[in-house]
Amino acid sequence: MTVNLTISEVTAFKTELLSLLEQLRAEVGEERKQQEASGLGSLEVHDSGEEAGAVVDLMLNVEVLALHSDEISDCLAALERIEEGDFGSCIDCTEEIELSRLRACPTAARCIRCQSAYEAFLQKSA
Ligand SMILES: [Zn+2]
Repeated sequence: MTVNLTISEVTAFKTELLSLLEQLRAEVGEERKQQEASGLGSLEVHDSGEEAGAVVDLMLNVEVLALHSDEISDCLAALERIEEGDFGSCIDCTEEIELSRLRACPTAARCIRCQSAYEAFLQKSA
């Protein structure tokens, strides 16, 4: 279905997504650097308490990295939808995604209805 976004609106979203992507990549690069600097590659611990702390730090780092890589793939997927001309339509029901929703979250791939159904599904299967 055709989405009622003007070319300038789509271009604005594209610019926003590209800068978000750049920002996320910079953050991930920074986290990787910190991880390397903290010597997690060659983990040296002297007692079990220290070891547990280091592992917790590592887990947190991995979680942050995973979260950011999710955001990066959301960004890339949104940019791909722009290229394909599908941006702004729900990937589930193909209805138009509310413009206010896109403004708040340009990476949104689903309309509010499908997003809540999707989240309910995720919660059920978790
Ligand atoms: Zn939908």
